[in-house]
Amino acid sequence: MYYAYYEYYSKLNDYKAALDSYVLSNEYSDSVVNSSILDKTQNARIQLVKDRMQKEIQDREAEFSYQARAQRRILAVSFIALTLAIMVIIMMLYLLRSRRKVNRMLRKLEMMRSDFYTNITHELRTPLTVILGYGKQLEKGDFTKRDEVQSAGKYIRGQGESLLNLVNQLLDISKLRSKAAKPEWRRGNIVPYVQMLVDSFSNPARQKFITLTFAPKQNDIEMDFVPDYFAKILRNLVFNAIKYTPEHGNVAVSLSEEKNGIELRVADTGIGISPEDQPHIFESFYQGANNSGTIGTGIGLSLVDSLVKAMEGRISVKSDLGKGSVFTVELPLSHGDGKWRYFDMDMETDLGEGSEGTQEDALSGEELPAGQEANDATPIVLVVEDNADISRYIGSELKKSYTLRYACNGKEGAALTREIMPDLVISDIMMPEMDGLEMCRELKSSEITNHIPLIFITARSSQEDKVKGIQAGGDAYLTKPFSSDELNALVESLLKSRALLRKKFSEAATEGEEDASDKLSDKDRHFLHHLIDVVYSTMAESGSDVESVASKMCMTRTQLNRKLQAVTGETTSAYILRIRLNRARRLLDDPKNFKIGDIASKCGFEDFAYFCRVFKQTYDVTPSQYRKRVTA
Ligand code: ADP
Repeated sequence: MYYAYYEYYSKLNDYKAALDSYVLSNEYSDSVVNSSILDKTQNARIQLVKDRMQKEIQDREAEFSYQARAQRRILAVSFIALTLAIMVIIMMLYLLRSRRKVNRMLRKLEMMRSDFYTNITHELRTPLTVILGYGKQLEKGDFTKRDEVQSAGKYIRGQGESLLNLVNQLLDISKLRSKAAKPEWRRGNIVPYVQMLVDSFSNPARQKFITLTFAPKQNDIEMDFVPDYFAKILRNLVFNAIKYTPEHGNVAVSLSEEKNGIELRVADTGIGISPEDQPHIFESFYQGANNSGTIGTGIGLSLVDSLVKAMEGRISVKSDLGKGSVFTVELPLSHGDGKWRYFDMDMETDLGEGSEGTQEDALSGEELPAGQEANDATPIVLVVEDNADISRYIGSELKKSYTLRYACNGKEGAALTREIMPDLVISDIMMPEMDGLEMCRELKSSEITNHIPLIFITARSSQEDKVKGIQAGGDAYLTKPFSSDELNALVESLLKSRALLRKKFSEAATEGEEDASDKLSDKDRHFLHHLIDVVYSTMAESGSDVESVASKMCMTRTQLNRKLQAVTGETTSAYILRIRLNRARRLLDDPKNFKIGDIASKCGFEDFAYFCRVFKQTYDVTPSQYRKRVTA
């Protein structure tokens, strides 16, 4: 615009105005150029900033993605590490658990082995004790009569056979398991064979008043079988059925031909097997809980199982606790294509008899020797032992010096002890019904019987068992096989130490010692204090007659009498009289100066003359002389 003014004023020849306009026009055009340059510069700067920011953003983005990648990598690595760590922990836990499991199994195995050895030891030591004992007696010439020698021979043979049976069963199992056995297969009618085997148990069954029957469904069942194996299976099953069935029960054997096979059943109305035990009873050395106390090795059924399998058969059991058990053996009728020799029962029936014959003996030979009539002068020894031969052996050792009584388990032993109050009890530890330890605890916890010394005789010789015996209250421990001298010496020394205590007590008591019971054991002292309390409390009204004192002590007259004699050597009536006279003497000493008549009735003497007489007999002075002498 100023440039237009410049041209306009130039045309008007107004050069001054034209110059001004020109200068202004130039200034304006400069400023426009300048501003456009400025604009450009600013734009360039903005672009630069933008570029820088973009670069920064790109850098940041790159850094971010790098970091994200790094984070992802770290996450992946940590995840892998964590997984690995979890896996390692799981593996370690698994290893730990399996190690614990293995340890548990090893411990169980160790326990089973130790149980097995304990049982085997018991099984071996019991017959050995009898054999060695009788052998020694025969050697010393203790038996002079022919029948004594014969019966010793009989027991030695019986025990030898039972040892042989045990060893044979163990050998059979080991042969069957190692497949070293060569079974002798035969073909023939099995029915009469089973009949004969069942019949061989009629005696032991009769002795337990058990009805033993055999009912074959068919009379003629031809089959292939190994007679020796078959006999062992049936004998073991019938033996167990009789062993685990109480008196007056039933054992029924049945046999039937089924499709391509036979089914042999042995059913009893016995104690039954618990559901927990049933899956294990065919395992070697497994003994059910129901067998606690009865002596066995847990080998019989394991052998049966191996024998059944060796004849390609099956065995199963069904049982209800308290109701009975049924063992079922299924065997095939034919064994391969072999032409087996015909089974001739008359020629082959003694197969295996040598080793098995003793099973029946084992059931029938349980009769205990008869006890002797008690003789007041000789001490009574009660033998509690389930093995009749051991009882007999102990009896033969002790009968010269002691009156012997017998019981065949802890329950019977405890009851008989309470009844007859023996001077000493000799007891086995492992016994049916109630074992020796439990019986000992029962006897030692009762005031009636806790003074009676008890000797444990057992095959168990571990330190732990001895401690258990002592903890139960046993006074001494004798390990089978023991010699007769050892037994005699122990019995004698225990009875002697009781007699010594008695003597000390009676000497102290007669010498007028204040508390003669100081000489006694804690248990005996407690018993006497209890007795004295009872006598004092019944003195005035009944004169403490033996009957009422015994009933207040919760004992029978005989129990009280025998216990008191064992502790003090005095009879109950003599001891009560002594307590009453002692009280009378104290009352005579009393400064209150009671009348002598009153003192007599306070001490339960209704008859004054009798009081004076017994007082004089005891203290050598009459009551009035006593008072005068004392007061003088
Ligand atoms: P054991 O020498 O202990 O009798 P077995 O192998 O013959 O050994 O038997 C294993 C266990 O099975 C026994 O300890 C007992 O618990 C149980 N048993 C076997 N037969 C009978 C039965 N007829 N009635 C009850 N329990 C039985």
